[in-house]
Amino acid sequence: MSHHFNNYIAGEWRAAKSGQTVENRNPADADDAIGAFPDSSAEDLNEAVAAAREAFEAWRKVPAPLRALKVQRAGELMRERKEDISRQMTREMGKVIAETRGDTQEGIDTAFYMAGEGRRLFGVTTPVELPNKFGMAVRRPVGVAGLITPWNFPMAIPTWKVFPALVAGNTVIIKPATYTPATVCELGSILEEAGVPSGVFNIVCGRGSTVGEAMLHHNEINVLSFTGSSAVGRRINEVGGKTLKRVSLELGGKNAQIVLADADLDLALEGVLWGAYGTTGQRCTATSRLILEETIHDRMVQMLVDAAAKLKLGNGLDESVQVGPLVSAEQRETVHSYVEIGREEGAELALGGEYYEEGDCARGYFYRPTVFVGVTPTMRIAQEEIFGPVLSVFKVKDAEEAMRVLNDSSYGLSSSIYTRDVNLAFKAIEDLDAGITYVNGPTIGAEVHLPFGGVKDTGNGHREGSFTVFDVFTEWKSVYVDYSGRLQRAQIDVEE
Ligand code: NAP
Ligand code: MG
Repeated sequence: MSHHFNNYIAGEWRAAKSGQTVENRNPADADDAIGAFPDSSAEDLNEAVAAAREAFEAWRKVPAPLRALKVQRAGELMRERKEDISRQMTREMGKVIAETRGDTQEGIDTAFYMAGEGRRLFGVTTPVELPNKFGMAVRRPVGVAGLITPWNFPMAIPTWKVFPALVAGNTVIIKPATYTPATVCELGSILEEAGVPSGVFNIVCGRGSTVGEAMLHHNEINVLSFTGSSAVGRRINEVGGKTLKRVSLELGGKNAQIVLADADLDLALEGVLWGAYGTTGQRCTATSRLILEETIHDRMVQMLVDAAAKLKLGNGLDESVQVGPLVSAEQRETVHSYVEIGREEGAELALGGEYYEEGDCARGYFYRPTVFVGVTPTMRIAQEEIFGPVLSVFKVKDAEEAMRVLNDSSYGLSSSIYTRDVNLAFKAIEDLDAGITYVNGPTIGAEVHLPFGGVKDTGNGHREGSFTVFDVFTEWKSVYVDYSGRLQRAQIDVEE
């Protein structure tokens, strides 16, 4: 019997009005049912938005440090339940248990960081040009926030949005990815237990094409925060443009790691294995391209192929497994179609390129770690996000060409360079077109208190994480207090 999950609306756990559900199964094992989730419609969303709207007036008046205490309590509960949350997450989306523990930990870190921000939420005070007059700018909540999240970080990404939105005084509705609602339902139970009042936090499970679309069009949602593909991001911005909603977009990536001839190659190898095959390549910051200086190219490719061939695939609950399945049959087909494209484009398959179906893995969506060599910048596998364990290797003649190849992408999320030359490292920091640059580290590994996001088609200029997320979830108000007792006209009554 599979477990039944519900929406969380106005402080109650409710089935979809239509009574329809969607069933989810473990991508590592089709025999393992996770549960049945509401297949909600616009009607369910309307109830959630009405609840959030009603709750907003009281919630925005709760002092920020006290709102933040609820988030802190949620973080404490997450910490107590970390192992259960992580195990369920591995069953729900397949990544290995060490990584789902990291995903949960990121949620806990965000809770504690944001709990502290409740006592900061810094504004600005500044001198003004007239005497006996005071100037400052303060942050106010935006209102009702609509949050739409992907499946690859089922806890971390929802918490990046939910916790700052709540600390800033907004009320929220979250629509989790259809593949991973169970983790968000767990977050809902935790916020309920932490004492977040009814209506302040709501969950509406359902498809992007129904609930997601309805969110874009809803007049009572004031800000939309989305993480997902660039294709859907474009759609959201289009509709958001018409309704003049604030829209924050965190989108795809085609991240590259550069390895220069002077680098520590063993370190660079460890980095690329983790960056390319961690989360089975299904991270927005995954290493999808490896750019090698020609003098070390052959040696590094050999090291890579040998090591990637030894990675252990399987059910992520087994602590010795290093690579889990892809999230779905559909995702595996997409990944494989890119492998066919790469072959047709003339890249050379050095490893993998096929389904992995040995033993119990036949019950899941496993794909062999894959390496293409001889990739050139105009190939589709060099440009498009594959979102799977497929790495494209480029050979370049020097650091300058390496950086040019790295920048030859419509995306700009994460980037990495391995070198011992401090001058080249700083040149990379200055010249790589990306929101994140790692020096002597892989393309993944963001911490919650630094800005997170990218340039070009990776987003629309916002940054999550750190204090910068409050530019998504607050409106600025400028305040002038004139204590001169007379009319003082700015720009006019100013004596130079
Ligand atoms: P996706 O297909 O764009 O879906 C993301 C979310 O949007 C899901 O909840 C989805 O619902 C919903 N959605 C789909 N169509 C919609 C529509 N028309 N209107 C409103 N919502 C809609 O992305 P994904 O496949 O879940 O995730 C993978 C992508 O996310 C990759 O491109 C990856 O790079 C990106 N990503 C970016 C970051 C970042 O911070 N930059 C982080 C992680 C992932 P359903 O689940 O029902 O489809
Ligand atoms: Mg999708």
